[in-house]
Parts: sequence; C-alpha cells; structure tokens
Amino acid sequence: MAKSLGSSPRPAHAITLAEMNRHFDACPRCLTARNPLQHVHGGGTTERPGYCFVLINPTHRNLSTSPLYEGLRFPFIGVRAFWRVLNRGGFFSDEVLQIVEMKPWTDRTTKAVLTELKLQGIYLTNLVKCAQPNPEVPDRRTFFEDMPLFSREMLLVRPSRIVAFGQLTVSVLTGQSIRLNDYYRGIRKMGMSTEFYFRPNEGPSIPVLPNFFPTGRGSPKLAAEILRLIKRTTWPEQSERPSPRRGCSEARASFAQHPQDVNNSSNLPLM
Ligand SMILES: [Zn+2]
Repeated sequence: MAKSLGSSPRPAHAITLAEMNRHFDACPRCLTARNPLQHVHGGGTTERPGYCFVLINPTHRNLSTSPLYEGLRFPFIGVRAFWRVLNRGGFFSDEVLQIVEMKPWTDRTTKAVLTELKLQGIYLTNLVKCAQPNPEVPDRRTFFEDMPLFSREMLLVRPSRIVAFGQLTVSVLTGQSIRLNDYYRGIRKMGMSTEFYFRPNEGPSIPVLPNFFPTGRGSPKLAAEILRLIKRTTWPEQSERPSPRRGCSEARASFAQHPQDVNNSSNLPLM
C-alpha cells in the first residue's frame, strides 16, 4: 500500500474517504505483483456508525474485484453466505435478504445491501483492501504496511465500536492473542464486555468486540450468535465510557432483553 498518505503531515480530517479509496487503488504492492483484481473499499455508514465490522481481506469471490466491474465496491458483494450470517445475527433485514437470495446478483442487489448497511448503522471494511485470487490470508508484513491507512480510515469514520471477525483480525487490531472459544464462554456467562481496544495512531481508542469468522473455515453459526448478543446489549454512550488508558476493566454492558437466550445456547465453539 502506498505509504505517503499514511505518513502524510496533512491532518486526517483534511483527507476524505474518497481520496483514501483512490489511494488504495494506486497500491504499489498490487502493481508489482500484477494483481488484476480491484481493491475493495469500506462501505455503509461512513460517519460515526454504531458499529464497524472488520474482516481480513477480500477475495475474488467478491464480484466487485473483477477488472471488468465498474460499480460500487465494498466487502462481500455477491457473497450471500455473509449476508445470511448478518441476518441471523439481527443486523440485516429479512426483506433485503430476500433480494440477496435472488439470482443473479445485480447492481440493484448491491444498492439494496448498501442501503441496508446504512440503515443498520454499520460501516463494513477489511484490514487489507487488496483482493486475492485464493482464500489465503495476507502475511504479517502486509498488515503492518496497511495499518497506518486503516488507522486513518477509523479516524475518518469514527465508529463507536468495532466488531472484529476472526482471531487474526482481533490480534491485528488489539495486539492481543485471545482464544475465541474462551471469550465466547465468558460472554455467555457474564454478558458482553468491552475489554479490548484498537488504539489508532491518532484519536480515541475504539472498543473491539471479538467474533468468530463468519464464512468459509470460520463459524457462521457462532458468528451470528455473537452478533445477536451484541445487538441485545445496551451500550454506554461514548461520553460515559471510561478511558481505556486508565485501565481496561470497563464495566460489562448489560443485556437489554432476553438474557436467558444467551444461557440457553447449546452450541460449543468450533474454533
Ligand atoms: Zn493492493
């Protein structure tokens, strides 16, 4: 990824998301590797969303990575399995899922999905915007190179909290290595908590809620279950949040309704 923007002395607020996206598209790494796939930008609610859903990187399964594609680009265009998980997790309406299930996937489908993300107050993005022709994850160096830009992206979008899908995403964002199984057992027993944070280069720290990876080799069922727990949680307003730098033992948020559903779950984690 080009480094000039990430290390630019220009204040972050002077850079728009559109400018950042052009910067992603001029990525020297893909140029050198002659990667024909298009970059996939973040999409959804771009100003102070309640949630930023973060995954690792796009693959060729996203229709917008095709060199011939000219429309909007954001994660999981054409990947129905992901939107089913969001639907089961309470973050995607049945009506729009019906549109998603229709074949073929058209520009109308893409627009309906984007509108739904905005309605739900979600910004959806990947740590790395470069698309790969296989499901392999990028190497550590790539995450390191792209972190300044991701940090800027968060500073522009200013989400209230991040939902990090997959152990690797959690580890890259928080610098902490957690076992998702243990985390899941903990929140089933005690309720959701905000004990992990992403600390960008500038601006306030952002709470990170770990989740299972929702597709492929991940755990779609458990990912949806954690999304449901997140959806039912009453989160403190941002101004009420204690500073994570003064101690990471923020009080556990409470379930607004149906806490019994959490304890009734019989599914044990798969990863
Ligand atoms: Zn690239």
